[in-house]
Formats: sequence, structure tokens, C-alpha cells
Amino acid sequence: MSTPEDYERQLRGVALRVTRPRLAVLSVVHDHPHADTDSIIGLVRDELGGVSHQAVYDVLRALTTAGLLRRIEPPGSVARYEARVGDNHHHVVCRSCGAIADVDCAVGDAPCLTASDDHGFAIDEAEVVYWGLCPDCSTAISS
Ligand SMILES: [Zn+2]
Ligand SMILES: [Zn+2]
Repeated sequence: MSTPEDYERQLRGVALRVTRPRLAVLSVVHDHPHADTDSIIGLVRDELGGVSHQAVYDVLRALTTAGLLRRIEPPGSVARYEARVGDNHHHVVCRSCGAIADVDCAVGDAPCLTASDDHGFAIDEAEVVYWGLCPDCSTAISS
């Protein structure tokens, strides 16, 4: 469980000033992995009151650029944010309701970084999206 002190430490660790909106966004994204921007704005407002959309957008951009948050955008979905960064994990997305869950790399540490042909690129990230139906949606269809 992360505490406000942890979030302050994370911000200082990437040389960002500690502000209440930044702390609120970090804690919201930690508590609601893969939330979209609108949900994050709503949750931050519950906590802080009058924070503008633009302020939350700016915080999300700053935290993503600093590497504290990861932005994912499966094709056809709005951008989502998560606090699980740096492990090159993948996502499974429900075609029906858009639910998203984390999927660890299939074997060992980030094996998907080893491309069969890297075309001379220095590859540092591989993004895999698994598509299918979540348990709720597949139950709804079969019943
Ligand atoms: Zn679903
Ligand atoms: Zn994730």
C-alpha cells in the first residue's frame, strides 16, 4: 500500500515539485489502474475540489514524461494510465466492454524485446495487446 510520503518521494526522485494535484493524480492512478482521463479527473476532483481539466491533463503529461505513470492506448480505446511502469507488461482488452487487465510477459523478463529481426533498431519497448472477451462478457454471450 503506497502512502502520500511514497508519492512525495517518487516526485522528488524525478525532480518534480510536490504539489497537491500531482499527489492526487498519483494516488488515483495507483488505486484505479488503467483509468481513463475522464475518470481520473472525476476522482481527483472528489479529492481536491476545483481542479481544472487542463490542470489534470498537464499533471498526467508531466508524470508520464517523468516515467512515474505509463500511458496506454489500445486501438479503438481512449488513453488509459497506470502506475505499473518499467516492467514491459502487456494488456488483455475485452472487445465488448473495454475492460483491461495486466498480463505479465509470457516467459522470463521482457522476452518480447528480442525481435526476430530488429532491422538495426535499439529496441527498448515491446507492446503486445491481447484481445478477447472478459469473463463477464463471455458469460453474457453463452447464457
Ligand atoms: Zn467485457
Ligand atoms: Zn497495466
